[in-house]
Amino acid sequence: MSERLYGCVEAGGTKFVVGIAAAPDDIRETIQFETRTPRETIGATLQWLKDAQVRHGPLAAIGIASFGPLELDRQAANWGHITATTKKGWSDTDFGAQIGRELGLPVGFDTDVNGAAIAESRWGAGRGKTVCVYVTIGTGIGGGAIIDGKPLYGLSHPEMGHIRLPRHPKDMDFPGICSFHGDCLEGLASGPAIKARWGVSLSDLPFDHPAHDIISWYLAQMVVTLQSIMEPGCIILGGGVTGTSGLLSRIRAKAGELGGGYFRGRADEVIVSPGLGDRAGLLGGLALAQDIVKAVDTP
Ligand code: ZN
Repeated sequence: MSERLYGCVEAGGTKFVVGIAAAPDDIRETIQFETRTPRETIGATLQWLKDAQVRHGPLAAIGIASFGPLELDRQAANWGHITATTKKGWSDTDFGAQIGRELGLPVGFDTDVNGAAIAESRWGAGRGKTVCVYVTIGTGIGGGAIIDGKPLYGLSHPEMGHIRLPRHPKDMDFPGICSFHGDCLEGLASGPAIKARWGVSLSDLPFDHPAHDIISWYLAQMVVTLQSIMEPGCIILGGGVTGTSGLLSRIRAKAGELGGGYFRGRADEVIVSPGLGDRAGLLGGLALAQDIVKAVDTP
């Protein structure tokens, strides 16, 4: 079998990263675009992928790991669309289906979080685990669960950022910023929720500021909730907020306490950093492209 090449798209709310890859350690070329209007950004992506095939040869498929929410049901008339998003101008955007039509190629399409979760479970920190959860804590909070190599879907992708939690005793007054739930996890512990309370990001607050305790306590509760539901072999914590120095060890210690020694997975072993670093998004696109080829090959 000749080597297959894939087009990979990491579609974020502020930037798009597009690339050509044969394997995770064989990325041939990448480019970044600022996320502007759908017409400009998807247009630039399409053009680059067309031109790239002249330089590199034909592609087998495209994988798109996108900001959401997304329509992922392949039977739905609007499969491949970004649906009702808070990103201005992008609601009801035909994205995955349009790329497939214009390039005449199969398209794997999923959330950026699920894409990164699949990539981490296949090639990164989740390798070899039957159940692996990836959570990103940044502008929002989102999580994907990979079970036996496949992302968990219910009616749609999970919305782990919106779990409800007891309030930290020193954080009772803040109403939370989630426009749907107020003080859900995302409303309390995302980057914007931290800025709304303390004016700066967590990493800009002194090490002994109470915010570190409060935020790590909420994230530890999330960990214990995930352990209660599925005892994952690993919980990978990524995203801008988790770059805060010392945060991961605080979460490990608190999750250990809150779990009371009950779970098989020890918090200090289960909670890990991403193994793929900032390549997880683009490699998510690669994993989705590989999977769609496999699905087409095996009817
Ligand atoms: Zn919410």
